[in-house]
Amino acid sequence: MKISGIKVVVLMTLLSVFASCNNMKKEDFKVWAWLSGSTTMSGEQLDHYFSEASRAGINAILLECHGAKPEIIGDSASFRDDAAIVILENAMIYAKKYNIELHAWMWTTNRVELSLRKAHPEWYQVNAKGESCAEINVYNREHYRFLCPTRPEVTEYLKERVREIATVEGLAGIHMDFIRYPDAILPYGLHESRGVVQDKVYPQWDFCYCDECRAAFKAQTGIDPLDIEDPTSDEAWMQFRYDRMSEMASEIAAEIKACGKVASAAVFASPSESRKLVRQDWANFRNLDYIFPMIYHKFYNAEDKWVETATREGVKALRNADNDAVLCSGLFVGHVPADKIEEFIGYTEKGGSEGVCFFSMEGMVKRTWFVDSLRSAVDKIRL
Ligand SMILES: [Zn+2]
Repeated sequence: MKISGIKVVVLMTLLSVFASCNNMKKEDFKVWAWLSGSTTMSGEQLDHYFSEASRAGINAILLECHGAKPEIIGDSASFRDDAAIVILENAMIYAKKYNIELHAWMWTTNRVELSLRKAHPEWYQVNAKGESCAEINVYNREHYRFLCPTRPEVTEYLKERVREIATVEGLAGIHMDFIRYPDAILPYGLHESRGVVQDKVYPQWDFCYCDECRAAFKAQTGIDPLDIEDPTSDEAWMQFRYDRMSEMASEIAAEIKACGKVASAAVFASPSESRKLVRQDWANFRNLDYIFPMIYHKFYNAEDKWVETATREGVKALRNADNDAVLCSGLFVGHVPADKIEEFIGYTEKGGSEGVCFFSMEGMVKRTWFVDSLRSAVDKIRL
């Protein structure tokens, strides 16, 4: 059968119109949620979270197994995170029962284990005033203890934790959180509640000026970063810090993949805000399967529609960096009214996100109708 050129053009146009009408209809539309974990969580509690996740149409849970209050690892010389393994193994029973993928959510550069602080205080990041994260409470937070990405032994330590977690039978993936520097500037909507004035970057929030970083930058440029008058506008010094974090993230992601697991990371809302606030150039994080920008728009004093703008900026940055990681927008349950779930998912889809991830499962089950509304929105997309 012969088809003329004109007919082909008409056919292609019709097909593309049809495809765009069906933009929101995807059988494999994937929904994720973050869930906090602890070794003391009972079987009943776990059953409740996973059964509600199943009812909401959620496919995958990112379960926190090393977090703000890790079960104390103690002073073990091996540093093995036994608590993380217990948390994951306990949850795996319910993940299997409800047919939900389970991913281990680990804190990455921000590590709070006392054993590590005691054994290697020199591994922690240092601010422009010479104060170490191991010794001061940044933003008055006990859990803000960031490791320096320039030190190869830090990356090795974290890869070892990855290999440990990866031994949990049935685990689908490993998810890196806090793969960044401490907040040079907090997201704008948090300044008032945290009692900070951050019209620019101040030295107490500007990291990493540890000996290793200073020496490496000096070897590269001949300049000690402490002598830079305006560190934020010094491109070489900013780029140095972006690159060290990107290298570490890429190396850990490669280790996750080498363990046969799906590699993912939670990152700040948009590439430009991420670089500015936490020196995180995530479009250049390599070897990841998924990247979850946490587009918690109200923390950025942004309108709802910004979810679409930030998503689009992220997708574009990944493509420009030749990074084929899948972007999946993260939404904050407290910023998404139950009757607007469909609208918000629409913003992420229009921006180019593949799926959506909610923070958090706990927040979801606390809100009347949220689980039902999410299910109904998801069913419409998957029809
Ligand atoms: Zn450093």
